[in-house]
Amino acid sequence: MTKNEVKTFMLRVKSYYQSFIIDEFKTNEWFNALKDYDNSEVNKRFEEHLQSETYGQYIPQISYLTKFLKKVGEKKVTPADIFINCSICGKRLSLQEQEDHYDRCHDIDYINWLSEKYRGKPINKDKYWELEDTAFYRAFLGTLAWAMEQESNVMKQEMYNNIYQDVKLCLQGKGHEIREDRAIEPTIINSIE
Ligand SMILES: [Zn+2]
Repeated sequence: MTKNEVKTFMLRVKSYYQSFIIDEFKTNEWFNALKDYDNSEVNKRFEEHLQSETYGQYIPQISYLTKFLKKVGEKKVTPADIFINCSICGKRLSLQEQEDHYDRCHDIDYINWLSEKYRGKPINKDKYWELEDTAFYRAFLGTLAWAMEQESNVMKQEMYNNIYQDVKLCLQGKGHEIREDRAIEPTIINSIE
């Protein structure tokens, strides 16, 4: 709190408790005791005090006002406190969740795009979220193989094939065993509903 915030705060206290005395010495004392705390949090504690049936009749002590409050410098933001919304599905994610979420979310979105393009209907995304990693990537590769079969444009077939190879390489990098057989259950998309 700044000196002015403390002064204003003391005037607030006085407005509720007539016997509360404000002088320069006391103002300096209160400032020293409150300067490391957040103005709005101290005021909020004061409001709680006012509403207390038991203690509301007494002038609040600084020790009460600052009890359980963290000093401004003590407030550490931990990764668990940081949330952002996924840019694909809009889900609220903690920093820890983001890493796992994005890859899968992006891939599911792509499978859904293929499904709408070649089947004319979306996939059940929840089902894809429930799959274990290995099962999920098998489904992703199967869907890409299926999309290659559906597509007559050679350029697009090539594009799906490139993604297919990228996913496969990425999986091998992560230690997943991938069958060489290219058309891993090409109709897999219909089995996950
Ligand atoms: Zn998402």
